[in-house]
Amino acid sequence: MTKPAFQLTVLGCRGSMAVCRDDFKLFGGDTSCYMVQADDETIFLDAGTGICAAPAAFPKAPVILLSHLHLDHVIGMGMYPGHPPAGEKTRLFVPFCRDGEEAQALFSRIFTPPFWPVPLEECLGGAELLPVPSTIEIGPVRVDSMPGNHPGNSLIYHLSCRGKTIVYATDYEHGEPSFSELVEFSRDADLILYDAQFDEAEYEAKKGYGHSTPEKGLELLERSGAKRLLLTHHNLHSSDSCLLAREEKLAGTRASCARQGQVIRL
Ligand SMILES: [Zn+2]
Ligand SMILES: [Zn+2]
Repeated sequence: MTKPAFQLTVLGCRGSMAVCRDDFKLFGGDTSCYMVQADDETIFLDAGTGICAAPAAFPKAPVILLSHLHLDHVIGMGMYPGHPPAGEKTRLFVPFCRDGEEAQALFSRIFTPPFWPVPLEECLGGAELLPVPSTIEIGPVRVDSMPGNHPGNSLIYHLSCRGKTIVYATDYEHGEPSFSELVEFSRDADLILYDAQFDEAEYEAKKGYGHSTPEKGLELLERSGAKRLLLTHHNLHSSDSCLLAREEKLAGTRASCARQGQVIRL
């Protein structure tokens, strides 16, 4: 069997707040975190509470790419279990900051008493904070980004490795010209992770909240020619039964709802 270019593990796919109740066990309650492995590289897409279940050791220092700094995407770093190999540092790419110093200053507002007892760098076992350049090379993986559409902004990432591509588009509200740009950015992707926090009726009541719908996810899938769509950033009120009903409507499409613990190889 050929070695996959990517292995993606869903560590957390809940939006806005972590949730833990009986009817949330199938899709999971941890907030955004996806572990992408390519050869001996490990890349975390966001660092919500899901990152607390990350492995403790890595062959090479991991990289964390943040889509934006809302708490549900960063709070897991406070209890991050991983440590880079001795002498190496975890690289943390922080959108919308000029340099590492500005990123440090931002995080020192959260990871500081009385809000949290341990500074961020210590939580990560040694980290280098960096702004997001237009292209990042991580071993065999190339990462590009485009602006999202979300209160306070967000970044959408495009990861490519040996001809396979993943697009990570969460905390994103559709709208033009952004949506058409996202269609081009996702052209022929092997996998798109797409924000589908709201159903159509909720979206009508929550325009401007910075989230999208399964219907727009399907439109993105069709227009981009992508192979597979994973709907994510599930609303904290969407129980397993809600999401199973959503998947029933998706029958016959190349789309499904992300489940915590799910592993996808490309
Ligand atoms: Zn979020
Ligand atoms: Zn957000």
